[in-house]
Amino acid sequence: MTSLTPPTPGTRLDPWFGAYAQRAHNMRASEVRALFAVVNRPEVVSLAGGMPYLEGLPLGVIADTMQRVIATQGTTALQYGSGQGLEELREQILDVMRLEGIDAHPDDVVVTTGSQQALDLVTRIFIDPGDVIVAEAPSYVGALGVFRSYQADIVHVPIDGDGLIPEALEETLTRLAAQGRRVKFLYTIPNFHNPAGVTLSLERRPRILEIARRHGVLVIEDNPYGLLGFSHDPLPAMRSTDEEGVLYLGSFSKTFAPGFRVGWVVAPHAVREKLVLASESAILCPSNASQMAISAYLSTSDWKGQIKSFRELYRERRDAMVGALAEHLPDASWTVPDGGFYTWVKLPDGLDSKSMLPRAVTGRVAYVPGTAFFADGSGADHMRLSYCFPTPERIREGVRRLAAVVNAEREL
Ligand code: PMP
Repeated sequence: MTSLTPPTPGTRLDPWFGAYAQRAHNMRASEVRALFAVVNRPEVVSLAGGMPYLEGLPLGVIADTMQRVIATQGTTALQYGSGQGLEELREQILDVMRLEGIDAHPDDVVVTTGSQQALDLVTRIFIDPGDVIVAEAPSYVGALGVFRSYQADIVHVPIDGDGLIPEALEETLTRLAAQGRRVKFLYTIPNFHNPAGVTLSLERRPRILEIARRHGVLVIEDNPYGLLGFSHDPLPAMRSTDEEGVLYLGSFSKTFAPGFRVGWVVAPHAVREKLVLASESAILCPSNASQMAISAYLSTSDWKGQIKSFRELYRERRDAMVGALAEHLPDASWTVPDGGFYTWVKLPDGLDSKSMLPRAVTGRVAYVPGTAFFADGSGADHMRLSYCFPTPERIREGVRRLAAVVNAEREL
């Protein structure tokens, strides 16, 4: 009889530890995910997750739409589909992107299983172990996880209230070139940044593009929140002025619902071919059922009106959040986002958001420590607070509880 023996020594907890590929060793549970179990307890006010508020959706209408899709086109909806995504949806995605000045062809669009899969595909086709990715400091925790799992070397560039700082980008790219390091792409979230809440100013957009172009660096523009601005029409996407140098990532997760898991990439022609091949090898094709549900929603509902009501809802919550911070945590500082889901809070001197978190949870409030958003685990003097899911009243209560935890912490 043969017995299962691991090929290389494991550990007592995981007999297969020695068998993992190097990339698996680079995978870690994100600090956000580790929090999920705790923050879902009803007594905890969670200012941690980035879950959109879905109660406002016309659920009855969506249910009827899905019912009709299955009844009338069920054999297509439940069948395998195209690796690039359904053409009808790709056409409709062009209408969505036109709101940000993007003029593309349906062939340029690749539908993905959320923009998270798009991040995975982009990284898979561009990154060899040790290649450099330049990202904002801080940056989206889910992107950092993908980059890490492909063994990229992540180099951060600072931001301020107007987003990525062009001079800092120039300086970083020049330094990396002098060191002979190959920078494959710049990953940026220009609108209503996750986690920082800031937006790249109009004036900086062409400057960032020019610097990237001059250094031969592709720009990955990740834009799930761009249509959720509170005070003005959507800003023109970076992709709207640069078709060859920018790869644009979009998503229905925040403007409609994340449960369908539908996002997309707009890529220069040759890159698009590679993305489709990579996606086919990962998942064969995105879900037809999800794509058709979204397509039917876009063609039968007032989706622009829905986005408008989301904007109003999130603006009210942003106001509740910054108002409560001013009242209860006056010696912290924070960004005042003009859209999206998050504010980035700098704690009073000497406090550490990571070590404080267990005490915050005991105090029935949760946030994401700043350390989640930096490749090297720095950022403990910051935290991300999200205002998308809790009601304004719960937000105020959450900030009150947070202030009590911070004040107790100062006395430790
Ligand atoms: N990019 C950013 C900046 C995000 O905040 C998120 C979701 N939190 C994603 C990508 C992934 O979104 P999805 O896969 O749901 O489209």
